[in-house]
Amino acid sequence: MDGKPVHPHTVAAANGVADGDRFGAVAPPLYLTSTFAFPAYGTTSGYDYSRAANPTRDLLADTLAKLEGGAGAVITCSGMAAIDLVLSRLPRDAFVVAPHDCYAGTRRLLQARSARGSFEAAFIDQGDAGAMSRALEHVPSLVLVETPSNPLMRIVDIAAIAAQAKAVGARLAVDNTFLSPALQQPIRLGADYVIHSTTKYLNGHSDVVGGAVIAADAAEAEALAHWANVTGVTGAPFDAYMTLRGVRSLFPRVAQQQANAMAIARFLREQPQVARVYYPGLPDHRGHDLAVRQQQGFGAMLSFELREGAAAARRFVGATRIFTLAESLGGVESLVAHPVTMTHASMDADALARAGIGAGLLRLSVGLEAEEDLIADLAGALAASSRADGPAPAPLKGEPC
Ligand SMILES: *Cc1c(COP(=O)(O)O)cnc(C)c1O
Repeated sequence: MDGKPVHPHTVAAANGVADGDRFGAVAPPLYLTSTFAFPAYGTTSGYDYSRAANPTRDLLADTLAKLEGGAGAVITCSGMAAIDLVLSRLPRDAFVVAPHDCYAGTRRLLQARSARGSFEAAFIDQGDAGAMSRALEHVPSLVLVETPSNPLMRIVDIAAIAAQAKAVGARLAVDNTFLSPALQQPIRLGADYVIHSTTKYLNGHSDVVGGAVIAADAAEAEALAHWANVTGVTGAPFDAYMTLRGVRSLFPRVAQQQANAMAIARFLREQPQVARVYYPGLPDHRGHDLAVRQQQGFGAMLSFELREGAAAARRFVGATRIFTLAESLGGVESLVAHPVTMTHASMDADALARAGIGAGLLRLSVGLEAEEDLIADLAGALAASSRADGPAPAPLKGEPC
């Protein structure tokens, strides 16, 4: 498939398929080996040791680079390792601008590394043009963007921030985990790096933890690959094989999941127990117009606020039969999370209030089950959520996952 441009659906389904294997294998083989024989003194097959490079992992990297429109990609052992790999490219005394509502693990990483003096990090409301301009006056080396954000699905204008970042010589990294390249390609909007937790939509089956960094520039992709080998954060070949298997069906999965999500968003906002629904596909969502411009769809993540708060949320999550109470997202099965006691449990009450995350907020990762079954499940849980019962147990508090 090299040379001519290929439709992204074809890249996902067929990149590397039936590609000259000596036995004619259609599915690209899993190279489950740590080391490679040198054909002769001083020569390699192109591969010598799997920490540095592995054909299975390289095929996943090549596929993701093509889907994101990048020059190259590095596959890491987790999404966090992918973010840290981008941070390893920062110069001394760098300044990093991150979203105020970023993924909790990203915030923990940035705070921990900045506390050790690696760089300085500021957490900014990137939808606030004034706050963004003031942050850019401090000449950051890196601007990190997440859009849609977690859990309120705020949308940030990637092209506008890319232009602002470029004007001050900063690089732009976009965490594209929530949409995947099926629905958004940040490099085409001006980003220098795209980051993924491949754990989510790219693998899509909730059975692998992994990450990726895609670079717009070939030299930068090389530099990232070098660092990933130096620090040893490259992903396992088996995980790459599984993730590529997931990528094969990325487009139809995401299409069906977001169709389910749209139906659910419309259902939820008609329900008396629901105060608000946060889904960019709803025309009254703050980021709707921007999402229409920069995305090819609205995704399959949404959240909603129950009028009766924490107690109702507890009864709701105890009553679902299809939606499983779990963190993570992007798999074929539907999940429900309660941010205040789960994904966002490390935030104090003030920070939660500032971020607009209430005790009655629930987040859904919508899967591939039948729409009617999902809606019936939510209807049953909503009915249960408004039935009074005993006192609530003390909420869990802990570290972000
Ligand atoms: C899950 C997630 C991460 C972290 O990825 P892991 O694979 O869990 O290390 C980073 N960013 C976002 C937006 C995520 O959802």
